[in-house]
Amino acid sequence: MGLKILNTMGMRKEEFIPLHDGEVKMYVCGPTVYDFIHIGNARAFVIADVIRRYLEYKGFKVTFVSNITDIDDKMIRRSQETGLSLQQLGEIYSNAYFEDIAALNIKRPDVSPRATQHIPEIIDAIQKLIEKGYAYQVDGDVYFDVSKFEEYGKLSGNKMEALEMGARIEINPRKRNPADFALWKAQKEGEPAWYSPWGWGRPGWHIECSTMAMKYLGETIDIHMGGKDLIFPHHENEIAQAEALTGKTFVRYWIHNEWLTVEGQKMSKSLGNFITVKDALKMCSPNVLRFFLISAHYRSPIDFNRENIRLAEENVRKILDALERLKSLKERSERGSGEESLLVEVRDAKRRFEEAMDDDFNTPLAIAAIFSIVRAINNYANINAEIETAAKKEVYEIMKVLVEDVLGIRVETEVEKRTTEYEPIIGNLMEIILELRQEMRRRKEWKIADEIREKLQRIGFIIEDTHSGTIWKLKK
Ligand code: AMP
Ligand code: ZN
Repeated sequence: MGLKILNTMGMRKEEFIPLHDGEVKMYVCGPTVYDFIHIGNARAFVIADVIRRYLEYKGFKVTFVSNITDIDDKMIRRSQETGLSLQQLGEIYSNAYFEDIAALNIKRPDVSPRATQHIPEIIDAIQKLIEKGYAYQVDGDVYFDVSKFEEYGKLSGNKMEALEMGARIEINPRKRNPADFALWKAQKEGEPAWYSPWGWGRPGWHIECSTMAMKYLGETIDIHMGGKDLIFPHHENEIAQAEALTGKTFVRYWIHNEWLTVEGQKMSKSLGNFITVKDALKMCSPNVLRFFLISAHYRSPIDFNRENIRLAEENVRKILDALERLKSLKERSERGSGEESLLVEVRDAKRRFEEAMDDDFNTPLAIAAIFSIVRAINNYANINAEIETAAKKEVYEIMKVLVEDVLGIRVETEVEKRTTEYEPIIGNLMEIILELRQEMRRRKEWKIADEIREKLQRIGFIIEDTHSGTIWKLKK
């Protein structure tokens, strides 16, 4: 089945057909590096990462670009507050961003272009827009004239409201229309600036993204993503700038994620519920945070609260437990009917996982399919201590690919870690159990003693009664 994406442009589910067969060019609006990234940003980045990973799973060659905004009002304000230069701020928080995305197992973008390193390209784009009559200069500022771009408003569908909103928010006598937006801002006292044909100044935020997206991905890109707040004005303006320049469709599929709230409220510094990724990782593991972030569909809201994190923790544990049980099953060379039905269930769940992801990246349904596999493994291990080698390998591989490679939840290292972490505890537990069994034998409760041994054998322990006492080992 083909992949379908709900395109914000037109708000219809459309079949995904990239511009070039087998290749996907993807752009994701990245962070403004004036502070640590928060869990709302992380939602946007994790979702983009799952989409990238799923496209790769389907065999596409994905080029993934995500910018770093290192010059805008927030950067300047923070630099003035802290006394740090823009470069220092950018350095500190972009390093922190790379650290956080690595912790969350988000693949590094192929390119992470920084606005301040693309000033010549941005100036060039603005100049062309002026030449083509889409932009005008007033006292060192350059504005985009939205009345010249007929399709302005086609993404957000709020052209008229936009104009009215613009009029309400700011009366700027320099603008021809209230909804015109700045491509270049003349330098204000104490602000960093670059030299341009319109004097000293700096680029506007929107032109940074469309210029860098086109530089690294071409004039038409397949997927452009961001949180829903970016639909207007940011992405609407990116379209206007890019399409005015090239006359071509800028983006084929627009994907926007819904909001993350904290205990039902919008996250904000003033409410004191602003949670950075670093803070969140003090409350739970990266695996759990990531699992939580994808447990809702990307177009539905999601709430960060204790209960949801507890649920995510429980679910991650169930997945790892099942894999650990699968790993500890003793291998044999023949396949029985148990393996046959296990494989039927697992392959069917894999198909449902793909169907869910093909339907506009429905991660909650995909996770439900993973849990069918978890149940199938547990049901199998409840009644079998052995498994055919090839069947074991296939089930493990399917889980590893879907959970780790596509959803980005680390399993391999986690299962390994647990086995070594639990080893001493298992030793102590076995000592207690075998002592109790010994006591049963002393009391001639042979039936109970045998039952304990059989039960232990069923979960992979070999128990031997020798002259010097009872010894145990794990079946390999
Ligand atoms: P910013 O650094 O504010 O430009 O945000 C970077 C990305 O995070 C953008 O795609 C935003 O839309 C997204 N984002 C910011 N806050 C949230 C939130 N609370 N929930 C979901 N996405 C968010
Ligand atoms: Zn952007």
